[in-house]
Parts: sequence; C-alpha cells; structure tokens
Amino acid sequence: MVIAIDGPGGVGKSTVARRVAFSRGLEYLDTGATYRAAALAAVRAEVDLDDSSAVVSAVAAATIEYRRGITLLDGEDVSTEIRTPQATAASSAVAAIAEVREIVVAMQRAWVDARDGKAVVEGRDIGTVVFPEADLKIFLTARPEVRAARRAGDPEADGAAVTEIHAALEQRDHADSTREVSPLRPAPDAYVIDTSDMPLDAVIGEVLGQADRVSGRPRLL
Ligand code: C5P
Repeated sequence: MVIAIDGPGGVGKSTVARRVAFSRGLEYLDTGATYRAAALAAVRAEVDLDDSSAVVSAVAAATIEYRRGITLLDGEDVSTEIRTPQATAASSAVAAIAEVREIVVAMQRAWVDARDGKAVVEGRDIGTVVFPEADLKIFLTARPEVRAARRAGDPEADGAAVTEIHAALEQRDHADSTREVSPLRPAPDAYVIDTSDMPLDAVIGEVLGQADRVSGRPRLL
C-alpha cells in the first residue's frame, strides 16, 4: 500500500508521515530530502542554479540515497546540511527543472518498488504525479501564519524570527505552486485536511482512520 502525503512547507507532513508509517509498520520516504540533496549536488558542483543544463548534469552525476531517515549524497550523510536556509532556497529552484524531477522521481519510484510498493511517501506531487495510483492520498494544509509558527519551533529554524520564516515560506509556496512542472496542488481524489486548528495527534488519527478505510481494516473505537 502506498500512502501519499502532500502539502506545503511547515504543515507538519514529515511528522505525520513518520508517525503514520511507524504505526502501520511501513517505511517512510521524505521526497523533499531527495530534492534538497539534488540541490546540494548542484551547489557543491558550483554550477549557476539558473543554468538548467549544468544543474541537470550535476544531479545526474550524483548518487542520492535515502535510508531510514538519513539522506546520503555520494555516500556522505548530508541530513543536516540539506536543512540550511541556503539549501532550502536552492531546493525549490532545482525542483522546478523538469529534467531534475525526472531523475529524482525515478529514484523515488525505485525506492518504493524495492519495498514491494509498501510505503508512506511525503512531498508535493506524490498523489498527482509520482504515485497517481496511490491507495490513499492525503493533502495537508494550514494557514501560512500557523505554518510559520510551526517551522519556528523546528531545530532547523535555528532561532530565526517567525516573520522571516513566514516570508521565506510564502516565497517557496509561490514558487512551488506556480511552477510549470508538477505544481503543488491536491489530487482531485485527495483527502484534504486543514490542520490549522488541530493538534498533531488528531491529524494522525484522521490519516490512520483513512488508511484503515482504504485497507478494509476494522477500526477499533
Ligand atoms: O518538503 P521540503 O520542504 O523538504 O521540500 C523542499 C523543496 O523540494 C520544496 O520547496 C519543493 O520545491 C521541492 N519538492 C518538490 N516535490 C516534492 C518534494 C519537495 O518539488 N515531492
């Protein structure tokens, strides 16, 4: 079973996806981490991020792996480095290049295939493009100010002001939603949850309830 969890930055996708995967004994793939690693490959190759073909060559030459929550670039653990504000901004630019997406999506599909098609996959275009046949598609949303406040609590925010985080999130939302290839949007058959006023456990409970519904598993009350 593939459970696709999509939505904008700061909505809590990773936490929800990780907890849902744990609860159902599935592995979890953070596709944002794979785009971040691709961006880091381009940054390390010192290519101009506006030069699409140079970026594509750098990404094609890199080996990106994701293993149990750890992101590897050419065999090196880059899990922390991909979370810097620079890598975050670069990831959105690099993810807008169609050929980069082809390379990274092929890697994501192979990762799920290697797990017999059973995984929780989190991102922006999982239900629309990567796994349009996913058994369950969840789209999480929250008001921008709520997402900025949540991000401010992440270790990667490193004490940045909420207003600064809010501005960066809005910029990334705009880039991710208006790009030509695989823009951020819910699949027509996605189950949309506005998490703005919901505690985390309630969101997880709702996703697990949906997972039980599609798998025909009886729900314990
Ligand atoms: O989810 P995260 O914030 O780590 O993603 C970083 C960036 O990677 C996003 O801003 C987006 O541009 C890109 N991304 C994407 N498609 C995905 C996951 C992430 O374009 N499935």
